[in-house]
Amino acid sequence: EKGHHEKRLIESRLAQIGQIIMVMANKGGVGKSTVSANLAAGLAARGYRVGVADADIHGPNQSRFFGFVGQRVRLGGNGLTPCAFEDDGIAHPLRIGSLAFMMERDDTPIVWRDAYKHDFMHHLIGSFDWGPLDFLVIDMPPGTGNELITLADLLEGHDVAALLATTPQEVALMDSLKAVRFCQERQLPLLGVVENMAGVTCPHCGGEFHLFPRAHLAEALAEVEVDSLAQIPLSPALASGSDRGQPIVLAAPEGPEARAFAPVVEAC
Ligand code: ADP
Repeated sequence: EKGHHEKRLIESRLAQIGQIIMVMANKGGVGKSTVSANLAAGLAARGYRVGVADADIHGPNQSRFFGFVGQRVRLGGNGLTPCAFEDDGIAHPLRIGSLAFMMERDDTPIVWRDAYKHDFMHHLIGSFDWGPLDFLVIDMPPGTGNELITLADLLEGHDVAALLATTPQEVALMDSLKAVRFCQERQLPLLGVVENMAGVTCPHCGGEFHLFPRAHLAEALAEVEVDSLAQIPLSPALASGSDRGQPIVLAAPEGPEARAFAPVVEAC
């Protein structure tokens, strides 16, 4: 009975959601959350109604990236109310749902066995009152583990596509190819790869250089027939925007970072 009710609730949420984008990465720290936040911000800036579901249980950073640190969840008439992003008094069509809002303290560690994580994936989609959305961007945990499988199963039959964030160096590449394989085997459409931390501009001379060689990445992606959608530079403004709770794509819409993210937004 409980399972049946939950399933109906999830289906009723999903029925109001247009396109779901799962942002994946095969390791932590490559900028998956950064890509999720700025993709969502870019879509909202184009007038779409966007939800951000933070599925990264052990590192739920979306609350920070949108300036909701310390925020606690509120219960509305139709479920948990996602936090609505506002900037300088301007409301954006952007709503964030995260486990971070349910914790007593921001530094509470999550010590859950798989069954709990499985349940939380269902909660994330079903318990939040997402309302009608054009896009739901899901910030996935790194890797191809439990949560990914749970969500892929849960969302089957809906309009779902994946985006893969990676850094251009070789170890990340090897890991990313596993995520590519996952998508191909699950027949999950992969929109493409976002190369993050690709290039740095020297603050002193303005010259550009590459920390990681990207030649192998381009080759490997061509081999598996996956597009590279964008190269996002390492950028202090991007990092500090995220820390401040203002995605750079909204804070500096004409800046080089927003321009770098534009093809990712357009691919969705
Ligand atoms: P992941 O979600 O893959 O673990 P995050 O998006 O949380 O990675 O990024 C890890 C850290 O690196 C964050 O502090 C973020 O602000 C920073 N970061 C990510 N991408 C960039 C970039 N292109 N330039 C500068 N800082 C970045």
